[in-house]
Amino acid sequence: MDGGLYLGSRNVGCLPARLPVARWSADDVPLEGNCLGGVAASSSARALGGDGRFCSGHSLTLLFRLLPSIPMPLDPQFLFPPVTPGEDVVLSASAFVTYERCPEQAAGRMRGVYGPESRSSFVGGLAHRIFARHLSSGPIADSDLTAACREEIGGSMNPKLAALGLKPSQLSGVIEDVASLYGRFKTLRAEGFVGAEVALQSEPADGVVLRGSVDAVFDDKGGVRLVDWKTGSLGDPDAQLAFYALLWAIEKDEIPAHIEAVSVKTGERSDSVPSRALIDGTAVRAAQAVDGLRSSWDSGESLDRVAGPWCRWCPLLDDCSEGRAAVDLLTG
Ligand code: SF4
Repeated sequence: MDGGLYLGSRNVGCLPARLPVARWSADDVPLEGNCLGGVAASSSARALGGDGRFCSGHSLTLLFRLLPSIPMPLDPQFLFPPVTPGEDVVLSASAFVTYERCPEQAAGRMRGVYGPESRSSFVGGLAHRIFARHLSSGPIADSDLTAACREEIGGSMNPKLAALGLKPSQLSGVIEDVASLYGRFKTLRAEGFVGAEVALQSEPADGVVLRGSVDAVFDDKGGVRLVDWKTGSLGDPDAQLAFYALLWAIEKDEIPAHIEAVSVKTGERSDSVPSRALIDGTAVRAAQAVDGLRSSWDSGESLDRVAGPWCRWCPLLDDCSEGRAAVDLLTG
Protein backbone atom coordinates (compact mmCIF):
# COMPACT_ATOMS: atom_id res chain seq x y z
CA MET A 1 0.00 0.00 0.00
CA ASP A 2 1.29 3.48 -0.87
CA GLY A 3 0.41 6.71 0.82
CA GLY A 4 1.55 10.31 0.46
CA LEU A 5 3.31 11.78 3.47
CA TYR A 6 4.50 15.21 4.43
CA LEU A 7 7.18 15.14 7.06
CA GLY A 8 7.29 18.25 9.18
CA SER A 9 10.41 19.46 10.93
CA ARG A 10 9.17 17.98 14.20
CA ASN A 11 9.47 14.55 12.62
CA VAL A 12 12.98 14.71 11.35
CA GLY A 13 14.47 17.85 12.74
CA CYS A 14 16.66 18.80 9.82
CA LEU A 15 14.05 19.09 7.13
CA PRO A 16 12.15 22.24 6.33
CA ALA A 17 8.50 21.99 7.26
CA ARG A 18 6.29 20.37 4.66
CA LEU A 19 9.07 18.92 2.57
CA PRO A 20 7.42 16.11 0.66
CA VAL A 21 8.96 12.72 1.24
CA ALA A 22 7.68 10.84 -1.76
CA ARG A 23 5.64 7.81 -0.73
CA TRP A 24 6.07 4.81 1.45
CA SER A 25 5.32 1.11 1.24
CA ALA A 26 4.88 -1.30 4.09
CA ASP A 27 7.59 -3.82 3.28
CA ASP A 28 10.59 -1.58 2.95
CA VAL A 29 11.50 0.67 5.84
CA PRO A 30 15.18 0.08 6.44
CA LEU A 31 16.48 1.99 9.41
CA GLU A 32 20.21 1.82 9.75
CA GLY A 33 22.91 3.10 12.04
CA ASN A 34 22.09 6.13 14.09
CA CYS A 35 19.66 7.81 11.74
CA LEU A 36 17.76 9.86 14.30
CA GLY A 37 15.45 11.32 11.66
CA GLY A 38 14.47 7.83 10.71
CA VAL A 39 13.27 6.93 14.18
CA ALA A 40 10.39 9.35 14.10
CA ALA A 41 9.87 9.17 10.39
CA SER A 42 9.81 5.40 10.13
CA SER A 43 7.06 5.08 12.71
CA SER A 44 5.04 7.58 10.68
CA ALA A 45 5.87 5.60 7.58
CA ARG A 46 4.78 2.34 9.14
CA ALA A 47 1.60 3.92 10.40
CA LEU A 48 0.82 4.94 6.85
CA GLY A 49 2.01 1.68 5.38
CA GLY A 50 4.98 3.54 3.97
CA ASP A 51 8.33 3.01 2.35
CA GLY A 52 11.25 5.15 3.40
CA ARG A 53 15.01 4.83 3.40
CA PHE A 54 17.43 6.48 5.71
CA CYS A 55 21.13 6.82 5.52
CA SER A 56 23.54 4.97 7.75
CA GLY A 57 25.71 7.39 9.66
CA HIS A 58 24.52 10.74 8.28
CA SER A 59 21.93 11.00 10.90
CA LEU A 60 19.33 13.27 9.40
CA THR A 61 19.69 12.67 5.69
CA LEU A 62 16.80 11.05 3.92
CA LEU A 63 17.32 9.07 0.76
CA PHE A 64 14.16 9.56 -1.18
CA ARG A 65 12.17 6.76 -2.64
CA LEU A 66 12.07 7.58 -6.33
CA LEU A 67 8.41 8.07 -7.08
CA PRO A 68 6.40 10.83 -8.79
CA SER A 69 6.43 14.12 -6.96
CA ILE A 70 3.92 15.34 -4.46
CA PRO A 71 3.13 19.03 -4.95
CA MET A 72 3.90 21.44 -2.13
CA PRO A 73 0.77 23.61 -1.96
CA LEU A 74 1.01 27.18 -0.75
CA ASP A 75 -0.36 27.12 2.75
CA PRO A 76 -1.10 29.67 4.10
CA GLN A 77 -2.43 31.13 0.88
CA PHE A 78 -0.05 33.39 -1.02
CA LEU A 79 -0.82 37.10 -0.99
CA PHE A 80 1.16 39.53 -3.13
CA PRO A 81 2.34 42.52 -1.06
CA PRO A 82 0.42 45.77 -1.48
CA VAL A 83 1.81 48.07 -4.19
CA THR A 84 1.34 51.77 -4.84
CA PRO A 85 -1.32 52.29 -7.51
CA GLY A 86 -0.02 53.69 -10.79
CA GLU A 87 0.73 52.95 -14.40
CA ASP A 88 0.56 49.39 -15.64
CA VAL A 89 3.81 47.51 -15.11
CA VAL A 90 4.93 44.36 -16.88
CA LEU A 91 7.81 42.98 -14.90
CA SER A 92 9.61 40.23 -16.77
CA ALA A 93 12.24 37.99 -15.23
CA SER A 94 15.01 39.85 -17.02
CA ALA A 95 13.59 43.25 -15.97
CA PHE A 96 13.45 42.03 -12.37
CA VAL A 97 17.06 40.81 -12.50
CA THR A 98 18.14 44.08 -14.10
CA TYR A 99 16.27 46.12 -11.49
CA GLU A 100 17.98 44.24 -8.70
CA ARG A 101 21.35 45.07 -10.25
CA CYS A 102 20.71 48.66 -11.26
CA PRO A 103 17.20 50.16 -10.98
CA GLU A 104 17.92 52.91 -13.51
CA GLN A 105 19.03 50.41 -16.13
CA ALA A 106 15.75 48.56 -15.66
CA ALA A 107 13.83 51.82 -16.02
CA GLY A 108 15.75 52.44 -19.26
CA ARG A 109 14.68 49.04 -20.59
CA MET A 110 11.10 49.85 -19.68
CA ARG A 111 11.45 52.99 -21.81
CA GLY A 112 12.59 50.76 -24.67
CA VAL A 113 16.30 51.58 -24.40
CA TYR A 114 18.12 48.36 -25.20
CA GLY A 115 21.72 47.71 -26.07
CA PRO A 116 22.66 46.51 -29.55
CA GLU A 117 22.29 42.84 -30.44
CA SER A 118 25.52 40.94 -29.83
CA ARG A 119 26.88 37.85 -31.51
CA SER A 120 27.05 35.95 -28.21
CA SER A 121 23.44 36.69 -27.34
CA PHE A 122 22.41 35.60 -30.84
CA VAL A 123 24.34 32.34 -30.47
CA GLY A 124 22.74 31.85 -27.04
CA GLY A 125 19.25 32.51 -28.36
CA LEU A 126 19.71 30.12 -31.26
CA ALA A 127 21.20 27.45 -29.01
CA HIS A 128 18.15 27.73 -26.73
CA ARG A 129 15.86 27.18 -29.71
CA ILE A 130 17.85 24.07 -30.62
CA PHE A 131 17.72 22.79 -27.03
CA ALA A 132 13.94 23.25 -26.99
CA ARG A 133 13.64 21.48 -30.34
CA HIS A 134 15.71 18.57 -29.05
CA LEU A 135 13.51 18.17 -25.98
CA SER A 136 10.25 18.54 -27.85
CA SER A 137 11.03 16.58 -31.04
CA GLY A 138 14.02 14.41 -30.22
CA PRO A 139 17.76 14.52 -30.86
CA ILE A 140 19.00 16.32 -33.97
CA ALA A 141 21.52 14.44 -36.09
CA ASP A 142 24.80 16.24 -36.81
CA SER A 143 23.95 16.22 -40.49
CA ASP A 144 20.62 17.97 -39.80
CA LEU A 145 21.83 20.62 -37.40
CA THR A 146 22.61 23.33 -39.97
CA ALA A 147 19.15 22.97 -41.51
CA ALA A 148 17.56 23.04 -38.04
CA CYS A 149 19.45 26.24 -37.18
CA ARG A 150 18.38 27.87 -40.43
CA GLU A 151 14.77 26.89 -39.77
CA GLU A 152 14.88 28.38 -36.29
CA ILE A 153 16.43 31.60 -37.59
CA GLY A 154 13.83 31.82 -40.33
CA GLY A 155 11.05 31.10 -37.85
CA SER A 156 11.68 33.86 -35.35
CA MET A 157 15.22 35.20 -35.36
CA ASN A 158 15.60 37.01 -38.67
CA PRO A 159 15.12 40.48 -37.11
CA LYS A 160 17.92 39.76 -34.63
CA LEU A 161 20.13 38.48 -37.42
CA ALA A 162 19.49 41.65 -39.39
CA ALA A 163 20.20 43.80 -36.32
CA LEU A 164 23.47 41.96 -35.85
CA GLY A 165 24.46 42.71 -39.44
CA LEU A 166 25.92 39.24 -40.00
CA LYS A 167 26.80 38.35 -43.56
CA PRO A 168 25.60 34.94 -44.78
CA SER A 169 29.24 33.83 -44.92
CA GLN A 170 29.58 34.49 -41.17
CA LEU A 171 26.58 32.35 -40.30
CA SER A 172 28.54 29.10 -40.48
CA GLY A 173 30.71 30.28 -37.54
CA VAL A 174 27.56 30.95 -35.50
CA ILE A 175 26.20 27.49 -36.33
CA GLU A 176 29.52 25.91 -35.35
CA ASP A 177 29.29 27.59 -31.93
CA VAL A 178 25.71 26.37 -31.54
CA ALA A 179 26.78 22.84 -32.55
CA SER A 180 29.45 22.88 -29.87
CA LEU A 181 26.93 23.94 -27.22
CA TYR A 182 24.42 21.39 -28.46
CA GLY A 183 27.02 18.63 -28.23
CA ARG A 184 27.39 19.39 -24.51
CA PHE A 185 23.67 19.86 -24.02
CA LYS A 186 22.96 16.34 -25.27
CA THR A 187 24.89 14.91 -22.34
CA LEU A 188 22.46 16.44 -19.80
CA ARG A 189 19.80 14.22 -18.34
CA ALA A 190 16.28 14.85 -19.56
CA GLU A 191 14.14 12.39 -17.58
CA GLY A 192 10.75 13.74 -16.63
CA PHE A 193 10.73 16.44 -19.31
CA VAL A 194 7.42 18.30 -19.23
CA GLY A 195 7.92 21.35 -21.42
CA ALA A 196 10.44 23.72 -22.99
CA GLU A 197 10.27 27.51 -22.95
CA VAL A 198 7.33 27.36 -20.56
CA ALA A 199 5.63 30.74 -20.35
CA LEU A 200 4.46 31.79 -16.91
CA GLN A 201 2.41 34.89 -16.30
CA SER A 202 0.20 36.28 -13.59
CA GLU A 203 -1.42 39.53 -12.52
CA PRO A 204 -1.03 39.46 -8.74
CA ALA A 205 -2.12 43.09 -8.28
CA ASP A 206 -4.07 45.63 -10.29
CA GLY A 207 -2.03 46.63 -13.35
CA VAL A 208 0.92 44.49 -12.34
CA VAL A 209 1.89 41.63 -14.65
CA LEU A 210 4.73 39.30 -13.77
CA ARG A 211 6.03 37.14 -16.58
CA GLY A 212 8.85 34.86 -17.53
CA SER A 213 9.74 31.93 -19.72
CA VAL A 214 11.42 28.98 -18.07
CA ASP A 215 13.84 27.16 -20.37
CA ALA A 216 12.53 23.77 -19.29
CA VAL A 217 10.33 22.14 -16.69
CA PHE A 218 10.95 18.59 -15.52
CA ASP A 219 8.79 16.56 -13.20
CA ASP A 220 10.92 13.59 -12.30
CA LYS A 221 11.60 11.55 -9.23
CA GLY A 222 12.71 14.57 -7.24
CA GLY A 223 9.62 16.66 -8.04
CA VAL A 224 9.05 19.66 -10.30
CA ARG A 225 12.35 21.19 -11.42
CA LEU A 226 12.58 24.55 -13.18
CA VAL A 227 15.75 24.75 -15.25
CA ASP A 228 17.51 27.68 -16.83
CA TRP A 229 20.37 26.97 -19.24
CA LYS A 230 23.17 29.43 -19.69
CA THR A 231 25.25 29.43 -22.81
CA GLY A 232 27.94 31.59 -21.19
CA SER A 233 29.26 31.38 -17.67
CA LEU A 234 26.78 30.72 -14.87
CA GLY A 235 27.06 34.17 -13.27
CA ASP A 236 24.70 34.76 -10.38
CA PRO A 237 21.39 33.11 -11.29
CA ASP A 238 19.73 33.42 -7.86
CA ALA A 239 17.43 36.37 -8.57
CA GLN A 240 16.24 34.91 -11.87
CA LEU A 241 15.58 31.47 -10.38
CA ALA A 242 13.78 32.98 -7.39
CA PHE A 243 11.56 34.96 -9.77
CA TYR A 244 10.72 31.79 -11.71
CA ALA A 245 9.87 30.05 -8.44
CA LEU A 246 7.57 32.96 -7.55
CA LEU A 247 5.86 32.82 -10.96
CA TRP A 248 5.40 29.08 -10.66
CA ALA A 249 4.05 29.38 -7.12
CA ILE A 250 1.51 32.02 -8.10
CA GLU A 251 0.35 30.22 -11.23
CA LYS A 252 0.36 26.65 -9.95
CA ASP A 253 -0.35 27.34 -6.29
CA GLU A 254 2.61 25.19 -5.31
CA ILE A 255 6.31 25.61 -4.74
CA PRO A 256 8.59 23.86 -7.25
CA ALA A 257 10.83 21.22 -5.70
CA HIS A 258 14.01 22.54 -7.36
CA ILE A 259 15.24 25.59 -9.20
CA GLU A 260 18.33 24.97 -11.22
CA ALA A 261 20.69 26.84 -13.53
CA VAL A 262 23.27 25.05 -15.63
CA SER A 263 25.97 26.53 -17.79
CA VAL A 264 26.11 24.35 -20.88
CA LYS A 265 29.38 26.07 -21.73
CA THR A 266 31.31 25.64 -18.48
CA GLY A 267 29.45 22.88 -16.66
CA GLU A 268 28.79 25.13 -13.64
CA ARG A 269 25.54 24.35 -11.89
CA SER A 270 23.35 25.96 -9.24
CA ASP A 271 20.59 23.82 -7.74
CA SER A 272 18.48 24.82 -4.78
CA VAL A 273 15.24 23.94 -3.04
CA PRO A 274 13.01 27.02 -2.90
CA SER A 275 11.34 27.69 0.42
CA ARG A 276 8.15 29.53 1.27
CA ALA A 277 10.35 32.28 2.69
CA LEU A 278 12.06 32.64 -0.69
CA ILE A 279 8.70 32.92 -2.47
CA ASP A 280 7.42 35.56 -0.04
CA GLY A 281 10.72 37.45 -0.02
CA THR A 282 10.89 37.50 -3.82
CA ALA A 283 7.32 38.81 -3.95
CA VAL A 284 8.36 41.66 -1.65
CA ARG A 285 11.32 42.46 -3.92
CA ALA A 286 9.10 42.35 -7.02
CA ALA A 287 6.60 44.68 -5.32
CA GLN A 288 9.47 47.07 -4.47
CA ALA A 289 10.52 47.06 -8.12
CA VAL A 290 6.96 47.88 -9.17
CA ASP A 291 6.77 50.71 -6.62
CA GLY A 292 10.17 52.06 -7.68
CA LEU A 293 9.31 52.09 -11.38
CA ARG A 294 5.91 53.65 -10.80
CA SER A 295 7.31 56.36 -8.60
CA SER A 296 9.99 57.16 -11.19
CA TRP A 297 7.40 57.40 -13.95
CA ASP A 298 5.23 59.55 -11.73
CA SER A 299 7.91 61.98 -10.66
CA GLY A 300 10.07 61.88 -13.77
CA GLU A 301 13.10 61.35 -11.57
CA SER A 302 15.82 58.80 -12.19
CA LEU A 303 16.18 55.73 -10.05
CA ASP A 304 19.34 54.65 -8.27
CA ARG A 305 22.30 53.90 -10.51
CA VAL A 306 24.32 51.00 -9.23
CA ALA A 307 27.53 50.59 -11.18
CA GLY A 308 29.27 47.30 -11.82
CA PRO A 309 30.66 45.10 -14.57
CA TRP A 310 27.23 45.14 -16.25
CA CYS A 311 27.71 48.83 -17.10
CA ARG A 312 29.89 47.80 -20.04
CA TRP A 313 26.81 46.65 -21.91
CA CYS A 314 24.37 49.24 -20.57
CA PRO A 315 22.78 51.37 -23.29
CA LEU A 316 22.67 54.29 -20.81
CA LEU A 317 26.45 54.25 -20.31
CA ASP A 318 27.24 57.33 -22.38
CA ASP A 319 25.08 59.52 -20.13
CA CYS A 320 25.91 57.85 -16.84
CA SER A 321 28.89 59.16 -14.90
CA GLU A 322 28.68 56.31 -12.35
CA GLY A 323 28.77 53.73 -15.10
CA ARG A 324 31.62 55.41 -16.98
CA ALA A 325 33.69 55.58 -13.80
CA ALA A 326 33.11 51.86 -13.25
CA VAL A 327 34.03 50.96 -16.81
CA ASP A 328 37.18 53.14 -16.65
CA LEU A 329 38.17 51.28 -13.51
CA LEU A 330 37.49 47.91 -15.07
CA THR A 331 39.33 48.63 -18.27
CA GLY A 332 42.27 50.18 -16.44
S1 SF4 B 1 25.74 52.57 -16.82
FE1 SF4 B 1 25.74 51.26 -15.01
S2 SF4 B 1 25.17 52.58 -13.30
FE2 SF4 B 1 24.63 53.64 -15.18
S3 SF4 B 1 22.48 53.13 -15.53
FE3 SF4 B 1 23.73 51.67 -16.67
S4 SF4 B 1 23.99 49.90 -15.32
FE4 SF4 B 1 23.31 51.64 -14.07
